[in-house]
This record gives sequence, structure tokens and C-alpha cells, in this order.
Amino acid sequence: MKEIKNIYCVGRNYAAHAKELNNEVPSSPFLFSKPTHAFVEARGQEIHLPGNRGSIHFETELVVRIGKEYESGMKADEAIDSMAIGIDFTLRDVQTELKKKGHPWLLAKGFPHSAVVSEFTAFPGVEKVKKADFMLMINGEKVQHGNIQNMIFNLQTILDFTAENFGLGEGDIIFTGTPEGVGQVKDGDHLSLVWDNIVLGECVIKLTESY
Ligand code: MG
Repeated sequence: MKEIKNIYCVGRNYAAHAKELNNEVPSSPFLFSKPTHAFVEARGQEIHLPGNRGSIHFETELVVRIGKEYESGMKADEAIDSMAIGIDFTLRDVQTELKKKGHPWLLAKGFPHSAVVSEFTAFPGVEKVKKADFMLMINGEKVQHGNIQNMIFNLQTILDFTAENFGLGEGDIIFTGTPEGVGQVKDGDHLSLVWDNIVLGECVIKLTESY
């Protein structure tokens, strides 16, 4: 597998999702990041998540990997070398408390294994990505699907904004935001990460107090 460096995540990038959590639709990209310990590839194995910190929600997202040092004016199709379908796991109850306090989201978003990704596949270009949906299936049922055409901020805007504010280079990955339909995972759930009707990654959730 190729090296992974920074893990950036876009929040509230689909209007219907912002509304389902009673959040305002942002007027500029809204980003947070996760530690690299959060990263894990879904290869059919059991993935351990905290079972004692309230509800854990799945957020299914297109994930892009940057293949070269970003330079001003670079097009998304040139900067991105591969893509995956990922889950930005979120401790929703913890996040609600953090929001009330005006605190950063790290405790709710940055726990180990909170950035699950499928196998990465070659990036076919923005226009081709728009032609297919991504999807999460749990225990064989479709629970969430999305298409990057519905993003509030498109991939180019996200790359430009990230590069300008934080830096962007080879090995950085970006979770690009979830569409509506987020929900809770349960112990033993079997998750399939699907792109264009092809299963790119699978895992089984194990909720545990120690991991
Ligand atoms: Mg998210």
C-alpha cells in the first residue's frame, strides 16, 4: 500500500446531511483532521471501535489520495492519484457535547480506527467519478449512497482550500464529506464499501472497551 500522511476531512459538504443534523450549510469549506492512528484499510477483518462512549455513526465518503506535491493552479485530475470509499466514524454523542461546549471535535472524530477506507483504486478523473454512486451496505442492505455531484464544495475547491490553509502533498488523503443517511453501527455489523456497484472493501464491527 502507498504511504499515507495527513488525513483531512471535510464536514457538512452535502446540504441534505447538514440539515439532518440541524447544522447550517457552510459558506466556505469546513475541515478537520484525524491522527494517522485512525487509519485502517477494510480487508474483510474485524475492526475494533469503542463500545463505551455512546453511539458511533457511520459517514460514508469518497476519499481521494494526493499523488504529488500540490502547486498553485494544479487541477484535481493531476493532483489526485487514487481514490477509495471511506467511513468517517464519529462518536455522535461525544460530538454533540463538544459542539455545545464549543470544543474541537478531535475526541469524537480522532479515535483509533475512525478512518476506515476500502482498497484504493486509480482515480479515473472528476468527470468519470460523477457518473457513479458510492454506497455503504450493512448486513446486505443499502444504508447510504451518494454522488459527488451533490457536494457543496467540489473537489477542486477542497484541494485549493486545503493546500492554501494546511499544505497538501503526496500521501495526504481527504475524506470529502458524507451525504445524508448517517446512522449508528452495532456490534457484529458487516459493512461493504461500494463504488459503482463494485465492493472495494469489507469489514465487521467489533465494539469493545479495550483496543
Ligand atoms: Mg464526515
